[in-house]
This record gives sequence, C-alpha cells and structure tokens, in this order.
Amino acid sequence: MARLHLTGTVVVDAATQHGEAWVVDGRITLTRPVVADATADGDSTGDDSWEEISGVVLPGLVDVHCHIGLDSGGAVDPEIALKQAVVDRDAGTLLIRDAGSPIDNSFVQAHDELPRLIRAGRFIARPKRYLRGYGREIEVADLVRVVVEEARRGDGWVKIIADWIDRETGDLEPLWPAEVLGEAIAAAHALGVRVTAHTFAAESIDPLLDARIDCIEHGTGMNRAQMDRAAAAGVPVVPTLLQVANFEGYAAQGREKFPAYAERMQRMYDNRFAQVRAFREAGLTLLVGTDAGGTIGHGAIAEEAELMVQAGIPAPEVVAAASWSARDFLGAQGLSEGASADFVVYPRDPREDITVLREPSAIVLRGNVVASSGTAT
Ligand SMILES: [Zn+2]
Repeated sequence: MARLHLTGTVVVDAATQHGEAWVVDGRITLTRPVVADATADGDSTGDDSWEEISGVVLPGLVDVHCHIGLDSGGAVDPEIALKQAVVDRDAGTLLIRDAGSPIDNSFVQAHDELPRLIRAGRFIARPKRYLRGYGREIEVADLVRVVVEEARRGDGWVKIIADWIDRETGDLEPLWPAEVLGEAIAAAHALGVRVTAHTFAAESIDPLLDARIDCIEHGTGMNRAQMDRAAAAGVPVVPTLLQVANFEGYAAQGREKFPAYAERMQRMYDNRFAQVRAFREAGLTLLVGTDAGGTIGHGAIAEEAELMVQAGIPAPEVVAAASWSARDFLGAQGLSEGASADFVVYPRDPREDITVLREPSAIVLRGNVVASSGTAT
C-alpha cells in the first residue's frame, strides 16, 4: 500500500482545512509521520518513497440515494451490481447509502475496491403501488412485521415507499394509514434503525413527520409548513433533482388516463428549483442523492450537485452536503486523524466552481489510489 503525501488544500469541513496530510497504512494522519527516510525529496527509493498528491482534497463523496442492484427493469445480476458500484466510485462517490435494492447487495461490501455501502434492505411497497419488480410488495397489515425484517437485514436503514399513484383515484395517494406507519417506524427505531421514505406528495409528509421519520427522499410535494416542521425536527431532505427532471415525462405519460396526477407532476416539475430553494430557506438540511439505478445511470453525483447549484443552493453548501455533512449524518468518518483514507482530489476547488466535481484528479479509497488522471507527480 502506497504512502501518500497530500499537499494543497485538505478540506475537513467548512471550518477546518489543512495544507498537508499523509496516508500511512491506509489511514489519514495530519501530523508528519516519523518514518525512516520519510522525506518527499524525490530521491528516496523503494518502500521509503512517498507518492505525492496535490490539489483540493475532499472527504469521499456520498450518494445518499443510490440503488445498487437495480436498473429500469428491476433486479440485475451481481456482476452488473458490482459494475454499478465501480461507476459510482469513479465519479468520486466513496460512500453510498443504498435507498433500497431488489437484491441482497451485501456482497458489494466484500470488495475493498468498491465504495462503502450502507444498505437499506429491500424497498417496502404495496402491490401495484410502486414500480413493478423493485420492492417487497406487501399488504398494509404486514407493514410492521416487514419493516422489522428489513431493519434486521440492512445496515441501519429501512426504505418505505410512502406515496405513489393510485389508479383508482387517479392521483398520488399515501400507501399506508398514518397509525400503521407510526407503528412501523417506531418498531424500526426500537431496533436502533433509521427509516427513510420515498415521497412525492404533500399528503404523506405530516404522517411521516408524526411518525418521526429520519429522512425524506424527493420531498417534491412539501409545503412550507411541512418544511418548517422537518427543519425543526432535524429531518433532512434529498431533493434528487435528476429524478425530478423526469416528472415532466411522467406527467405526459399519465395525462390521458390520470389528468389529476399529470397536472400535479407537471406542477412539481415546473416548481422543482423553487422547491429546493424553499427547502434551504426553511433551514432544512439538504443531502445529495442521484437516485441512480432505476432510470438514472450511476456515477452522476457531479451532475446532481450541479443541478442543486443551478436551483440556487450555493456551491459550498452543496459540496458540504455531498461530502462531510452527509458523512456526519450517516455516522461515517471524514478526514479526521486516523480515519480510513477515503478521499477525492480535484484540480480546483469545487466550492468555487461545482463543475470541477466532474474531473477528479485522484480518488483514494481505503488508502489505495483507485483512480488517477495522468501520471503521478
Ligand atoms: Zn430511488
């Protein structure tokens, strides 16, 4: 394993950065290691040499809404799931909170060269009330039991589909009565497991907040009062703008048979950037999630971050949300002394120009240089 010497700007968080850091035995250290011949003067040889990496160093990016083991048709073979994780890694995503997978993707965790994966088990939905083949399709009466099962299978998270089109009413409707949802989320919490929910509709938000949901995915329907409630409760939102960009298409597909649904999806599409600005104005914590794996390709964290900036979130906040803030939220280490060396290096500061996230110059995972543009300096 290479010993690395980092120079430039080593960003720990918004308040702390260093001009230098080192990687020894796969771990970050912020004090010059006392190692025989540990100079970086270029004429050291063999095992005593240091690989120089220079640039703006960020804690490895975090995609908090990513589906490993899923594509538009549902479950994929394990080899494809592994390839998805490689694509995410090569975009700088070194930690994934899986937002539901139709397969048991725990085999990804045996691969040191792949991003760290915090699994949420299988999505939980009702028959005909979510995309076919994606989730565990259960009846309302089974929700509590199934949440407990998935809570035991995952890595501290469970994913519930909270609303979806109901073909009988022709509009988005909650999947679960509020009392059952409350009981299910309480059961997960009793196991020390957090719960996140897919929600497009305003109608499912108050029951989720009443039930002490831990995170909100999409949140396109949230009104200002709901945003204020979520902010006060410290519940973050993952705006998934790449996904919301598809709402216009969903509206078009539904227009003939489900005009109310189509009108709502179109309205949320038209309002998508203003909605994200309103999240920020309400003081909500925003996180970055690509929603890769269904209709969206993997490796799109830079594109999602750019959309958030385009929506009006300042680039420094988006970078924090894609890196150290998300790590804090998930209980993962960043670039602290002794932490695993999981970081991404950029030629310029993405807090000044978010598009720089598209061009990492080096990606280091568990102390190994897994990607590097050009030759080592
Ligand atoms: Zn998703």
